[in-house]
Amino acid sequence: MGVFEAIGTETHEEVLFGVDHESGLRTIIAIHDTSLGPALGGTRFYPYTDEAEALRDVLRLSKGMTLKSAAAGLDLGGGKAVIIGDPAEIRSERLIRAYGRVVDSLGGRYITAEDVGTTVDDMVLIARETKWVSGLPCAQGGSGDPSPATARGVMAALRAVGERVWDTDDIAGRRVAVQGVGKVGMDLVRRLAEAGAETTVTDTNPEAVAHAVETYGSNAVGPDDIYDVDCDVFSPCALGATLNERTIPRLRCAAVAGSANNQLATDHDAERLSEAGILYAPDFIVNAGGVINIAVETDGYSTERAEMMVDRIYDNLSAVFRTVDSDGVGPNEAAMRVAQRRIDRVGSLRIRRRPGEN
Ligand code: NAD
Repeated sequence: MGVFEAIGTETHEEVLFGVDHESGLRTIIAIHDTSLGPALGGTRFYPYTDEAEALRDVLRLSKGMTLKSAAAGLDLGGGKAVIIGDPAEIRSERLIRAYGRVVDSLGGRYITAEDVGTTVDDMVLIARETKWVSGLPCAQGGSGDPSPATARGVMAALRAVGERVWDTDDIAGRRVAVQGVGKVGMDLVRRLAEAGAETTVTDTNPEAVAHAVETYGSNAVGPDDIYDVDCDVFSPCALGATLNERTIPRLRCAAVAGSANNQLATDHDAERLSEAGILYAPDFIVNAGGVINIAVETDGYSTERAEMMVDRIYDNLSAVFRTVDSDGVGPNEAAMRVAQRRIDRVGSLRIRRRPGEN
């Protein structure tokens, strides 16, 4: 598939292809929208089966970042990068630094960070070639692992869900089923236990489950049984696409709110949830804590400021629910409208920016 055909009717501003033959670097950076600021998004290092798959992924992910940052109230646009290949086989200092130079060539229109297949060590190498990198370790003035901020944001979302469904943002006594107790899920379980909620967890990693049971008093079920748990909120914190035609009819919860990206297998699954009487808190609103944390890093990191901004996810999600009421649409569509309206309103201010600014 050609590049223009792949972009189709989407509105990406720029797609850059970079190569370094000696290290085997093949990278694609997609800048979707810089109306609100420079395009920020991670670098995915992944063994794509072919270039068309890599291109589709980077186009889709960069658009998702535009919506996520806009709805989070950040002065950032949406971008994403992919490096084609198996990191375990081809990662080298030269390859990562060559990639850093490709990022640098965009002069700040794109700011990178970690994603699947890239690590904080990669960001440190990239920082030797460009200043347009975030997700650096705390020791280098960076924001470190974004997962605790993401979990904090999910807690803020759970309070907004509580207000909407039960007229209270008090988490105490709430029963939450957490699918996946990895970096985000485990920290969420810790926060829920502290707030007096009851948790049921699952994970394909038995050690993670045992840790949640022993440390936070969680109940445990098998990976496929989590959908049948009688609970208040189902919280997907593992993989994407776990909300689908097979799983939604099994859910016994009033709401869904979790950190996983792309939780809905298809757009139709948003309707399935509402037909089942389940409130869906859109993933890109709920899981914005990580990108908010990184956005704070781009202006000089402060934990206090990051936490304050992450807590605004409560207001962001409440605004989505108000749009559900005013526009008569489902939460997913409402979230996209909130993001697009901010881009349309605030993005037009760019004509007053200083020359050379994005
Ligand atoms: P992680 O890899 O640390 O944790 C994922 C956990 O899910 C692991 O413990 C894994 O064993 C488990 N898992 C995998 N398959 C499973 C299955 N079928 N059933 C149950 N458990 C399963 O990842 P993470 O950083 O905690 O991220 C979790 C999700 O949140 C991902 O979808 C990620 O894209 C998204 N997210 C993370 C952040 C962040 O700051 N880390 C930010 C935004 C979104």
